[in-house]
Amino acid sequence: MSLAETSAAAPAAHNAPTAAAVGGGAGRNVAIVGGGLAGSLLALALSERGYEVDVYERRSDPRAEGAEGGRSINLGLSKRGIQALTEVGLIEMIMPLTVVMRGRVIHAMDGTTRFQPYGKNRGEVLYSIDRSELIRILLDRAEKQPHVRLHFEHKLQSVDKDARTLELETPDGARTVRPDWVICADGAFSRARPEMHRGLRADYHQEYLEWGYKELSLAAGPNGESVIDLTALHVWPRAHCLFVSHPNRDGSHTLTLFLPHEGEDSFATTQTPEGVRALFKKYFPDLQPMLPSLVEQWMARPTGALLTTKTAPWRFENWMVLVGDSAHAVYPFYGQGMNSAFEDCSALLSSLKLHPNDRSAALTAYENARRPHTDVLMELSKANFIELRQKVNSPLFLLRKRLDVLLNRLMPKWWLPIYTMVSHTTMPYGDALLRARKQNRILGGVAAGLALAVGAGAWWALRG
Ligand SMILES: Cc1cc2nc3c(=O)[nH]c(=O)nc-3n(C[C@H](O)[C@H](O)[C@H](O)COP(=O)(O)OP(=O)(O)OC[C@H]3O[C@@H](n4cnc5c(N)ncnc54)[C@H](O)[C@@H]3O)c2cc1C
Repeated sequence: MSLAETSAAAPAAHNAPTAAAVGGGAGRNVAIVGGGLAGSLLALALSERGYEVDVYERRSDPRAEGAEGGRSINLGLSKRGIQALTEVGLIEMIMPLTVVMRGRVIHAMDGTTRFQPYGKNRGEVLYSIDRSELIRILLDRAEKQPHVRLHFEHKLQSVDKDARTLELETPDGARTVRPDWVICADGAFSRARPEMHRGLRADYHQEYLEWGYKELSLAAGPNGESVIDLTALHVWPRAHCLFVSHPNRDGSHTLTLFLPHEGEDSFATTQTPEGVRALFKKYFPDLQPMLPSLVEQWMARPTGALLTTKTAPWRFENWMVLVGDSAHAVYPFYGQGMNSAFEDCSALLSSLKLHPNDRSAALTAYENARRPHTDVLMELSKANFIELRQKVNSPLFLLRKRLDVLLNRLMPKWWLPIYTMVSHTTMPYGDALLRARKQNRILGGVAAGLALAVGAGAWWALRG
């Protein structure tokens, strides 16, 4: 057994660290806790930069078992995610697996629809991608690297920061590993984060939304044709609840219903077939006929909880660092969770490059560059829930949106709607918010000026 590893039960042969992984001084041996989106992307990127990478993932290999049902089956990929995937050379492989979404189709209560483009040109679109296909590509590519070892069914249990070891639970028993440093990419319900924070003056804030979510499938027609426009995100906004659908390549759509957990018309009142039918009749009468297996799907699919978190610090000395949802889980209403997790990966890689001989400085620079902006993303994602549920139906909001697009068309360098900045650029989130506020002030000033001019004109006319 190597210096870097002790084990209550003998580990499987393929889990044994290589001689290079045992080395300590150079800091090339990195453990990644969590083989999800951020963890697998970093495994690939770090191995290409000469690191020895061990990924410890609590689940079994998703490629062997198929996608996990009922949990965010497809995701909206936008500029930030595209940029990170481009940097690791994967974008050309991933793009053919996506479906382009040109904008939102809003479904009103009376069954009428209205299309809202995402931006002023054809480049400003989002891409829908199947989560399981994306993770399969990332894991396949990471596994092909000679310096990456994927360890499935390895669940982080605890961390000993003094001994610099990780305690893992595996099917063969407990296992202790001693990497040079650790990247915590174990998602919103991170085990690594509280372990890292133990004994530190750390902040952690989490909020659960009163709404949960459930995913349903809207099947394609008999010839594989989509029953609603395939090239858009569909939204059924209701003040009380919200349906969103992402298209799939086979013509089907993944529908996500956001609904209160408790109270009138909630997950609590839809535990029976009658309750489910009543909810759909009241809020989504146009959708119900398209879902012949509604009740069966409803009963079979789990109800998910939505959590938003922010925390500090993101690192411990030169040894541990958080990325993705473990650092900042956000509500999914801006479609930025994965995109910002990938952007974290890019930022971490840049910081490591900038400080090749000082990992502590690299991790500090990474946290300083990212944390203020992901804190802003948390607020933006909360606000977008209200926009999707309520504002998209408001004439004033629609007018404002059109004005934003018009000004952007007239002055593309000077005027950028906040949605464009967040989804179609890599401008830091905080900068995007500041710029949007400035634009709002200008627009408010112009509106007040116009109102004054009209008022003065009317007074002058009446007086004469
Ligand atoms: C309903 C919904 C819709 C969404 N839609 C979008 C969207 O359209 N666009 C977008 O950008 N984002 C979206 N997101 C957010 C996105 O799913 C997350 O932000 C993203 O998955 C974060 O990636 P991650 O790698 O940080 O975490 P995860 O993808 O959650 O990966 C964490 C990994 O760590 C593993 N793990 C956990 N605990 C342990 C442990 N103790 N030991 C070892 N391994 C462990 C997990 O099994 C998992 O594989 C959505 C989320 C939800 C809930």
